[in-house]
Amino acid sequence: MSPEAFREAGHRLIDRMADFLASLPERPVAPGRSPAEVRAALGSGTLPARGTEAGPLLDETADLLLEHSTFSGHPRFWGYILGSASPMGTLADILATTINPNLGGWMLSPIATEIEVQTVRWIAEFLGYPTPCGGLLCSGGNMANFIGFWAGRRAMLGERFRREGMPRDREPRVYASRETHTWIQKAVDLSGMGTNTIRWIPGDDDMRMKAEALREQIERDTAAGDLPLVVVATAGTVSTGAVDPLPALAGICREFGLWLHVDGAYGGPAAALPGASADLKGLALADSVAVDPHKWLYNAVEAGCILVRDPEVLRNTFSYTPSYYPERNIGEDPPVMFYEYGPQNSRSFRALKVWLGLRQAGREGYARMIAQDIALARLAYELAGADPELEAGTHGLSIATFRYVPRDLEPGSPAVEDYLNRLNRELVDRIQKSGEAFLSNAVIGERFLLRMCIVNFRTTEDDVRALPGIVTRLGREADAALRPPGRSRRREPRRGGRSAPAG
Ligand SMILES: *Cc1c(COP(=O)(O)O)cnc(C)c1O
Repeated sequence: MSPEAFREAGHRLIDRMADFLASLPERPVAPGRSPAEVRAALGSGTLPARGTEAGPLLDETADLLLEHSTFSGHPRFWGYILGSASPMGTLADILATTINPNLGGWMLSPIATEIEVQTVRWIAEFLGYPTPCGGLLCSGGNMANFIGFWAGRRAMLGERFRREGMPRDREPRVYASRETHTWIQKAVDLSGMGTNTIRWIPGDDDMRMKAEALREQIERDTAAGDLPLVVVATAGTVSTGAVDPLPALAGICREFGLWLHVDGAYGGPAAALPGASADLKGLALADSVAVDPHKWLYNAVEAGCILVRDPEVLRNTFSYTPSYYPERNIGEDPPVMFYEYGPQNSRSFRALKVWLGLRQAGREGYARMIAQDIALARLAYELAGADPELEAGTHGLSIATFRYVPRDLEPGSPAVEDYLNRLNRELVDRIQKSGEAFLSNAVIGERFLLRMCIVNFRTTEDDVRALPGIVTRLGREADAALRPPGRSRRREPRRGGRSAPAG
């Protein structure tokens, strides 16, 4: 591609993307098509033998993507935990990939490496995590948590373990609450330790890890001759945004000499708010913290970040220096070689979008956007509580849960609960397919709930106020499909004190 062709195709693409961003609120959030339909749109052509001109190729591809995508940047995208991506990040990626530094080694990325070092420090500053700390960016929360877990294991087991592997005479133990994201199973399993190593610590009524239960389990394991290693706490759980009592857990880890890793993939940035709870601010006490800039720092996927209190631990965990790598200067000012600090060798310049975002919005801009997401989730929770056809579930950070309950049903009995779970499962699917909004789900106790998570700077109060109407309309449709009027409807127990529809 000649520089002139690049300029022309690039300008055209940017124009199209600017139009797309302007049109987002009018578009369906999701295409609502089946895998077969999407596959058919792509076509099953074989690998092209001959090339295609760049301009038409980009045009055609943009059409395909605009037609068949779920838009996480849509103001009514509230599914899973996926941040709306800042347009600045798009421009950052053009800059980053055009220059294409490789952040594995400093000599391949002099200024880019320094920018990543600064980015990691700024993220720590934003969270209130002590600097200097070590850290680096990675693909996302799972990988950041893996790195923190591996660092903790290495710190606990010492250098010998790198050659000899896990001790064979004692059973290693890892502690986590039941609400911990599923990365913990992957990490423990793929680290050759087996998931039976995990001690699942019960939570309280708000699904926060019980500190006393943790202490008792560690005491039992120690008495049995096991080898406690790492405690995994969560700052903002996936299902409900619960925050474990971090200061209490940190105290226990200090007492028993264990590594405290905090999964702040989602909730970490909320520690920057002036009104953040002491529990959340307690992430400053952790030995390692995972954060996900592609969630609440509004970066495009992929961007995860691990922070480690002692900068040397990462190098002790990951560094090998074969002869085909350059000598690391041992002088006064040795360059940072990121290949020594994590599992990756070649590394992209994902730091640029994060760094530009932090500069563009600043600490105050981010704090304002995060606080707004939390306020909007609270509003959604309150609106659900006030709607006669909705039942409010939980509100934590920017997550609200609720469910649809037809007016003629009284929740509580096994038969009705069973039906409500079926109905709300069907309803999530209908909402996602409708394109009007995008929610996901949470299962709390035995209840299947709709779950709204706002990590979205485009969501307005009007968007949130529109949600109950959408949910109850689609809920009535789902109910009518599952309980055709005139049949089983009459046999369901009625809700006390409410007028049941004539059916
Ligand atoms: C999202 C999330 C993860 C996984 O992060 P990815 O970026 O999807 O890999 C892990 N833990 C928590 C608490 C999360 O919210």
